[in-house]
Amino acid sequence: MIASSTMAGRRSRQIGCCMIFHRAVASVDWAAMPNRGFYLDLAYLERLVRYVRACGWDIVSLDEALRRLTEPGHGRFVNISLDDCYRDTAELVVPLFQRLDAPITLFVTTDIPDERLRLRNAGLETILRHADVVHDDDRRLDLNTSKQKRAAYADISSRWESSGSDESYLRLCKQVGQDPDRLDDMHRITWTMLERLRGLPGVEIGAHTISHRRISSLDADDARAEIGGSRVRLEQRLGIPVRHFAFPYGQSADCGQRDFAMVRDAGYATGSTTRKALIRPGANPYALPRHTINGTHRHPAFAQAHLSGLSALATSVLRRG
Ligand SMILES: [Zn+2]
Repeated sequence: MIASSTMAGRRSRQIGCCMIFHRAVASVDWAAMPNRGFYLDLAYLERLVRYVRACGWDIVSLDEALRRLTEPGHGRFVNISLDDCYRDTAELVVPLFQRLDAPITLFVTTDIPDERLRLRNAGLETILRHADVVHDDDRRLDLNTSKQKRAAYADISSRWESSGSDESYLRLCKQVGQDPDRLDDMHRITWTMLERLRGLPGVEIGAHTISHRRISSLDADDARAEIGGSRVRLEQRLGIPVRHFAFPYGQSADCGQRDFAMVRDAGYATGSTTRKALIRPGANPYALPRHTINGTHRHPAFAQAHLSGLSALATSVLRRG
C-alpha cells in the first residue's frame, strides 16, 4: 500500500513528456525503408497523436510546456518535436499535424537549408532502395530483399560514421550513377519551405545547431558558435524569434552542464536532450528530457511506456546495470 501510494504520488508530480522523431514516410513506403527505425509511418504518427490525447494528455508547444512547468496546475502535457528537418517535414509531417490541430516543434540544423551539409545517410537509403547490388569498397552486397537492404544500410552507415568522411559515399554515388547533389535536393528542406511553415498555427521553429556537431566534443568558442549561430541564422532568415534549442544526439555524453549554461546564455528559453524521463515541475528548462520514438515500434503500447515512465525507468536500470 505504501509503495503504491508512493508510486501514485511520484506519478502525479510528473506532468510532462517530450517525444522526438526525425522523419516520416507514407505508410505504403514504410516497410521498404532501409533505415525504417528513423521514419515514422504517417498512419502510425496519426494514431500516436490520437492515442496521447485519448489518454488525457494535451499536446502543446514548448512555449506552453514551459508555462506549465513554471505554473503547475494546467494539466499534463506532451510536446512532440522533430529534429534536423528534411523535405518530408514540410511535405508530410506538418500537414498531418495541421489536420489534427496538434502543435509541433521543428528543430532545424541550419546547414541543411543552407545546402552546406551532405545528407549521405539519406542518400545511401535512396541508393539502396533502388539498387539490386552495390559494392562497398571491395565487398559485394546483394540487395534482393528488404532485409538485405536494411542489413546493408546498418553495415555501411556505421562504417561511414566511424570514418567521418564523405569520400566513400561519393565513390558509391559514382558507382551507381547517382548525382550526390540531386540526392541532397531530394531530401533537404529548403528556406522556401521553412518560410511557408513559419507562422502556421501550432508550428514552433527551434534551432538544432548549424552543422549538427556533438556539442560536448567542441571547445567553448565552437560550441557557442553552433548554439548561438543557429539561432541568429534562423532569426535572420525567417524573421521570427527562435526560443528553443535541441542538442544533436542529446545523450549524457553529448551535452552537459557547460552546454546547458551556454544555451541559457545564448538567450534561449529551453534546451532539449534525448535523455529519457518524464518532466516534473521545477525541471531545468535547459536540459529537458525527450523520448525518441522509434519507427519500428508501431504500437500505442510503446507510447504508453513513455507516458507511464516505464521506458525511462528501464533505461536508467539498464544504464546502472
Ligand atoms: Zn539531429
